[in-house]
Amino acid sequence: MEKSFETAIVHNSLINTSNIHSKTTPIYQTSAFTFQSLEALEEFYQGNIPYLYSRTGNPNTDELGQAVARLEGAPDGVATSSGLSAILAGILAVASAGDHIVAADDIYGGTHHLLKHELKELGIETTFIPFKDASMIRKAIQSNTKLLYSETVTNPFLRIENVTELVRIAKEFQLCTMVDNTFATPYLLQPFIDGVDIVAHSATKYIGGHSDVTAGVIVGTETLMAKARQKVVNLGTNLSPFEAWLTSRGLKTLALRMERQATNAQLLAESLTNHSNVKRVYYPENLSTKGNGAIVTIELGEAVDIHQFFSSLGWVKLVPTLAGVETTVSYPFGTSHRSLTLEEQESIGINQWVIRISVGIEDSADIIKQFKRAIEAAL
Ligand SMILES: *Cc1c(COP(=O)(O)O)cnc(C)c1O
Repeated sequence: MEKSFETAIVHNSLINTSNIHSKTTPIYQTSAFTFQSLEALEEFYQGNIPYLYSRTGNPNTDELGQAVARLEGAPDGVATSSGLSAILAGILAVASAGDHIVAADDIYGGTHHLLKHELKELGIETTFIPFKDASMIRKAIQSNTKLLYSETVTNPFLRIENVTELVRIAKEFQLCTMVDNTFATPYLLQPFIDGVDIVAHSATKYIGGHSDVTAGVIVGTETLMAKARQKVVNLGTNLSPFEAWLTSRGLKTLALRMERQATNAQLLAESLTNHSNVKRVYYPENLSTKGNGAIVTIELGEAVDIHQFFSSLGWVKLVPTLAGVETTVSYPFGTSHRSLTLEEQESIGINQWVIRISVGIEDSADIIKQFKRAIEAAL
């Protein structure tokens, strides 16, 4: 039967794809999946056909979740629409109304807000305390506590969490542990292998690596990931197929990028350490055998005019994110930590001279030159 123009234009899709073997995973840019028959639909519900509707599952998002899970040494992983929605899904897999969380007080601002305001409104309370001191963690645990929450490396001062100690305390009180491993990535640290139940990533950062997607991933035990997946499906915080595909593509070069960026960061940190107009350099030591990460935070001397410094950085752009292949700077005083009072900022070490540097893959000598020149120009 001949189709009319109007019908043909809609029903234009190719072909039988079973003989096409593309080298990379195609983008399954589809909201749903078709079924040949009612029997095939039944097969889906029996678990023999994987996909029905993209919010409930899509090959590209599954590919990303599974890839990060493998790199973290975890049995399962779920990709979501952002780092924050990954963290939300992970928390809701463990806690519900009436439960309590103990969280480190120096976690990412967005996560702090999620716990302090959004989850509080939903009946989940959080106590924030300095995790430097294990006795304070123990003291904060209540009879309804379900979760200890922290980050493997914190922002912007790069405190390294004592994951082993956290897991030990959690076991003692039969709690779950969840850590955000965004800054370290599984290239440097694998907290699931150290006993953490859920590991979260803002894949917007190093996993994607190219500043072109917003995405998140959580990995963990099969039971917890099954629960988290249900939250993502029911809250509608799934990742789009195209963004999952871009993130999976970025992930392929994670090891190369991190190796290079961490080496560059180490060299930059060393070159600024005894600089007469740099008051402090924050850079982790002994983070992992493969390097200390690619973020360097500095506090410039008071002789440096901060406006002049930022406008003298040339190709190093001011941008409120991190982890791309380009070296960038961010300004905690004016962005991530601006809502804190001056006393709060002071107590954690933030002031107008603190700069967070996300070191890229450029030539290290060029990066160092760029910062030394900008400091010079701002005196
Ligand atoms: C950026 C970031 C997040 C939030 O991720 P989004 O992708 O922006 O939702 C969470 N944790 C850390 C450590 C981050 O740097």
